[in-house]
Amino acid sequence: MARTELPSADRVTRFRRQLLDWFGREGRHDLPWQHPATPYRVWVSEIMLQQTQVAVVIPYFERFMQRFPDVATLAAAPRDEILALWSGLGYYARARNLHAAAIRLVQDHGGEFPQDLEAMQDLPGVGRSTAGAILSLGCGVPAPILDGNVKRVLARQHAVGGWPGGSAVLRALWELSEAYTPSADCAAFNQAMMDLGAGLCARGRPRCEHCPVADLCDACATGTQTDYPGRKPPKTLGVRATRMLILKSDSGVLLQQRPPSGLWGGLWSLPECPPDADPVSWCRQHLGLDIEAPSAGAGFRHTFSHFHLDIQPLHARVLGAAAVMECDRTVWYNHAAQDEHGIAAPVQRLLHQVLGKL
Ligand code: SF4
Repeated sequence: MARTELPSADRVTRFRRQLLDWFGREGRHDLPWQHPATPYRVWVSEIMLQQTQVAVVIPYFERFMQRFPDVATLAAAPRDEILALWSGLGYYARARNLHAAAIRLVQDHGGEFPQDLEAMQDLPGVGRSTAGAILSLGCGVPAPILDGNVKRVLARQHAVGGWPGGSAVLRALWELSEAYTPSADCAAFNQAMMDLGAGLCARGRPRCEHCPVADLCDACATGTQTDYPGRKPPKTLGVRATRMLILKSDSGVLLQQRPPSGLWGGLWSLPECPPDADPVSWCRQHLGLDIEAPSAGAGFRHTFSHFHLDIQPLHARVLGAAAVMECDRTVWYNHAAQDEHGIAAPVQRLLHQVLGKL
């Protein structure tokens, strides 16, 4: 990647003015986390918005705020309850980090958000761009941001080639973001950048004819908008396979809580029988349960960012009285238990299929 030149003072001035004028007329001013835009609300929204669309986030955000209206309430909440409210949003490490950061804010900062970038970035799950967003949008402290939308706008404005995940490209984009970010009106400017990237400067078909900064855009001038930003080099995802046991008794379907870290850490899931084990013997040995011979349900694939997981469900009824006692990490899940447990989307999908047939 050739070294990107920083914009001239005149270009910066025009860019800011044109963008802010447009934002005043066309920007999003009614997002739930903007009313009021406290650091806490901005933080939760920013974490939820990582990897997730605004329309999906809004109902989760509203439920979350109702139950956890401030840092202290979130810090004091059981993690299970936080994961339950996060169910379906995916990327559960975000929820675990949110909880850990809330505890840190209470313990180290008296429940307030620090007002400098370094201390903010020290919180679990808060990177440089999220820290900049909390500071600028929630605290009124000027700081640059560089989320996916802003990366796209800047890469196109300056025809910055290469994949933004690469360190040289990322550094160049941060330099551009720093150059454009104003010290006055920073909250409006950052929100305007996000809105431009999420709306007009869309990934597939940018609508440059409506863009307030089209006359300054290098990619638009050469008709190469969709070349920027560069794509991630393709990587072949590995495939893993698992067999999930849907064990039914009169009390419900057996769920176990997963260990606190790792895949779906702390969430509730179905017991998983290794591919080479006999399910009947495995259940007797590991769960103390006698089950009837299982029948295979329709298998499906769930894709994570780093691998595919092929899930083969096996259905079986438990014989005799349910011998497994509920304990801290085991539960018979039924209609009454719904909403109380954090459950990953593919497991939820299986439970929805069988819940009517308990
Ligand atoms: S002119 Fe087009 S490509 Fe350039 S910033 Fe505007 S919408 Fe994006």
